[in-house]
Amino acid sequence: MKKTTRIITVALAIALMATGCSSNKAKYVFLFIGDGMGFSHVALAEAYLAQERGDACGQDPLTFTQFPVLGMATTFSASNPITCSSAAGTALATGYKTKNHMLGMNPDSLPLKSIAYTLHEAGYKIGIMTNVGINHATPAAFYAHNVNRSDYYPIGLELAASGFEFFGGGGYLHPTGSPKLEEPLPYLGDAAEAAGYTFARGLDEFARKKCDKIILTRQTDYEGSLPYRFGCAEDELNLAQVVDAAIQVLEKGGKGFFAMAEGGLIDYAAHSNNTIADIFETLDMDQAVAVAYEFYKKHPKQTLIVVTADHETGGVSLGRERGYRFDLTVFDEVKTNESTNDAEQYMNTKAVQQEYSERAHIGWTTGSHTGSPVPVWAVGAGSQLFAGRMDNTDIPRKICQAMGVDFE
Ligand SMILES: [Zn+2]
Repeated sequence: MKKTTRIITVALAIALMATGCSSNKAKYVFLFIGDGMGFSHVALAEAYLAQERGDACGQDPLTFTQFPVLGMATTFSASNPITCSSAAGTALATGYKTKNHMLGMNPDSLPLKSIAYTLHEAGYKIGIMTNVGINHATPAAFYAHNVNRSDYYPIGLELAASGFEFFGGGGYLHPTGSPKLEEPLPYLGDAAEAAGYTFARGLDEFARKKCDKIILTRQTDYEGSLPYRFGCAEDELNLAQVVDAAIQVLEKGGKGFFAMAEGGLIDYAAHSNNTIADIFETLDMDQAVAVAYEFYKKHPKQTLIVVTADHETGGVSLGRERGYRFDLTVFDEVKTNESTNDAEQYMNTKAVQQEYSERAHIGWTTGSHTGSPVPVWAVGAGSQLFAGRMDNTDIPRKICQAMGVDFE
């Protein structure tokens, strides 16, 4: 081998080692989707951490922003330059674009196969997690097919029929059908139990119930979303605990696993232009990623973690109008109950949230989604595939490639 070739080969080997990747196939895959989590949302959370420790100018890295591979994904749907979560979820789950409001179906209303089904058939265990409703758009894109993302009842029935080993976090939206129905339908949970699922309501129950197919929810008020992390009780179920529980179920037996976890409340906070709730939700998802990263450290050659978003929400900016400034320490006031503007009043009053964003010089340009591309971070086996520019439809294809499974 020529000297120059050898130097290049050694340099490439070192570069591959530095990215934490190798030619190993990924056996354990985590896909984290921060719903609505654009670059600015992440920067906001990092600036918050820096300002918490008194650094007014810095940004402290999150767990996932330290991953060695960074790419960006375009997010447009088949019908709109600005995607909704079901079209984006469909792209991330199936590798195909669809129209806004469609779920797991192509624009001609034909069903698409998600990688969760492909991998399940190939012998991998599957976990689907979120902190919003488990039959909401993003998680549902991995197991359901419907022309209308809001058709929560049949979507919930498809969850029961999926056979996937673990669902967790938020409970059902509209568990007895549309609120417009005069006669409620049978409870969705009954269909899941009939299909062999066991409900674990709270972590204590989860610890006692060892079963093949499990749905983990909050102990009480177990339908719909988990509460926002900002202002909620310390002992509320969080996404990190759900991911930890999923690992316990999924790592036993099987060929490996695919676990998708959505930070869905980031999007909810951003639709409301609620700055501090948005920051807390991004930090909450980072803690969930940290649980996966601990798993990665035990199985570095066989684990792939991908962290991305389905779209950006709110058009949030660090700084607004003229003046080159933003200051997140104004939110210290809502973090103490002694203030007149305590956390509860803040969370319940849109005008107060707006006032604080203005005082913090944080800009929000819309209550909807934007057409911005989103970041993609990756670490582990096959992570090098996620560098550079890609489309959201490339992500499930790259995951299959990293796992050595044919994309269907
Ligand atoms: Zn949204």
